[in-house]
This record gives sequence, structure tokens and C-alpha cells, in this order.
Amino acid sequence: MRAYTPGKQPTEIGWVKLNTNEAPYGPSPRAVEAISKAAGRLGRYPPPTSAPLREALARKHGLSARQVIVGNGSDDLLNLLFRAYSGPDIPAGLISPCYSLYPVLAAAQETPLKTLRFTRDFQLPLEAIAESGVNLFFLTSPNAPTGVGFSTEEIRRLAKAFPGLLVVDEAYAAFAPENAAELVRERENVAVVRTFSKSHALAGLRVGYLLASESVIAMLDRVRDSYNVDLLAQVGALAALEDEAYYAPRIAGVIEAREALAKEFRERGWFVYPSRANFLFAEPRQGEEAPSRELASELFQHLLARRVLVRAFPADALTASFLRFTMGTAEENQLLLEAIDSWMSLPAKPA
Ligand SMILES: *Cc1c(COP(=O)(O)O)cnc(C)c1O
Repeated sequence: MRAYTPGKQPTEIGWVKLNTNEAPYGPSPRAVEAISKAAGRLGRYPPPTSAPLREALARKHGLSARQVIVGNGSDDLLNLLFRAYSGPDIPAGLISPCYSLYPVLAAAQETPLKTLRFTRDFQLPLEAIAESGVNLFFLTSPNAPTGVGFSTEEIRRLAKAFPGLLVVDEAYAAFAPENAAELVRERENVAVVRTFSKSHALAGLRVGYLLASESVIAMLDRVRDSYNVDLLAQVGALAALEDEAYYAPRIAGVIEAREALAKEFRERGWFVYPSRANFLFAEPRQGEEAPSRELASELFQHLLARRVLVRAFPADALTASFLRFTMGTAEENQLLLEAIDSWMSLPAKPA
């Protein structure tokens, strides 16, 4: 099996870092304060079930605390899902392109993966998923790396048609106009996964959570590490959750920047997927040249030379001619656009 390839994390300063969908703002100062205060209590084990955080999350989503589990990042919870609900004789499914960690987690459990494929229009093939014959199916919504989101109504129809456990990975829900959390109240076979890493600027803290029926949560509780979320992560996430006044305007700012930059890209003749996330997936064009993997790679290198880091997905035909741009600060987005324009005004290469 192959390990997951994380995006580059340069340690020198001076980079415009738009490659791993982190927030362009810092975490809530209240979260930072709660973390420093809790540091003196690190001699003791943390609450084993993250009870205070579970209760707060349950209140936020109108669920009972027995319908919530907290993880060491949402990656921890995705792993627990594979561990509990799949195995060498119990296949899982996904629809690709999607978050590239799932196949890694499946391989570690020796789980056969049924891989369905999106087409370029990124419509959800309800029937194909419903008839996929797997026990566990992963849907990234809003999708990564495209940012395309699926409506709650569509996901509801899918959950009704699909007989297994449908996992909706909503890492980017805060940037979307709707989400599937309400389906957890309606149905036993929907699990919604969220993270504090993206919208709440706490990627370094490692906290995610999952909403599902009591029986799914009880199953995941059996197979998780007994202290899977450390004390600083629990208190930091709790304080962040209670500071929506800090996050709401910043999230709105990211959405506004996303729409403005999408407009700029489209004005340059680029195809851009409508995004419900904190990034744009766009197909660069230069002059008359048709989009291609090579052209995307050229722009990637041009940006890299200017210390602007974005993400390329060359391995899949549906994503190879695109680049993914995480929304940065206003200044960073401006630097990105200037670097793009310096590439677009390069004289066309001789054929
Ligand atoms: C970033 C991301 C995650 C990982 O989140 P962590 O909580 O940092 O582990 C999971 N799923 C998707 C789709 C993501 O983009």
C-alpha cells in the first residue's frame, strides 16, 4: 500500500500558501487562551470520551450527545469507519475524484474498494451508488478537489436508496449554503463528518467530529483509542465552537473572496467549477491554447518560482488540466492574480 501524500508545508517565511485549504486567518483568540490555560493540567489524562465537547456539539446540531463522537482530526474518524464497517470480505465504496485519503485507509484494513467515477459535469449517479453493493460509501460534499456541492435533497434521496451506511464528509460545510446534518435526525444510515481544521483555523490542533445514529456512535466508540483526543484539542475546539462571533464574518469573507476570484478567472476565459468550499478548482488557459495537464503544470511551476504554492492533481484525467487554489488573505489573493497575469501575458510558445 502507499501512504497518503500531504500537501507541502514550507517552513521558511515568504510563501503564499494556497495548497492545503487551511484558513487565511488564525484561530479564535479565545481558543488560544483556553489552550494555554489548560496546559497546566496536562499531567492528567483528558476526558476519555471528550464528553464536554460532545455535549456542546450535540446542542449545536440538535442531537443527543450519544449521536456525536470526536476524533483526532476527522481523518481519525474516517479511519474508524473503515475499521468498524469494512474488511477483507466487506467492501466499501467511493466516487472519484474525491478526498484521496479514503483509498489509503481502505488498504490498511485490506478492504476492497468499489470505485465509481464522476463525469466532468459532477452529477451524482444516485442509482449506481445505490446499487454498488457495498456496506459503506463515502461521499465528499462539498467535493474535494472540485468544490462542487450536492444538495441536501439529493443526499436525502441517495440515503433512502442506498442500503448501507452513507458517510458524508463535510469538511467544507461552513462555506456551503446547505449541509446534510439534518439527515442524521431523519435516518439511521447517514454519518456526517466535520472538522475544525478548515473553517475554524485549527488544522494543527487535530479535531474532527462525526454525527450519526446512537448505534453507529457506539460501534465507533468500541474501536477508537481510549484517549483519542488530547486535552488541548478538546478545550481548544470547545472554545472555538463557542466563538461563532469570531468565525462567522471571517467565513463570510472567504466566501466573498471565492466568488470575486472565480469571476476574475472566468473573465480570463478559464473554466471554474461552482465552489461551495474555501477553494477554487480552475482550468487555466493561456491565449488560444487548449487546457491540458502540461499547461496546468506550466502555471504551477510559474507560481512556484514566485513562491505561490497551489495544488495540482495530475494523476486523474478529470483533474489533470486543473489547479486548486485555496482562498488566502486579500493580499495573497491579489499576489496570486498578479502572478497568474504575468504568466498569461507570456508570449505564446512556438509550436
Ligand atoms: C481536510 C479534509 C479532511 C481532514 O480533516 P482533518 O480534520 O484535518 O483530519 C477530511 N476530509 C476532507 C474532504 C478534507 O478536505
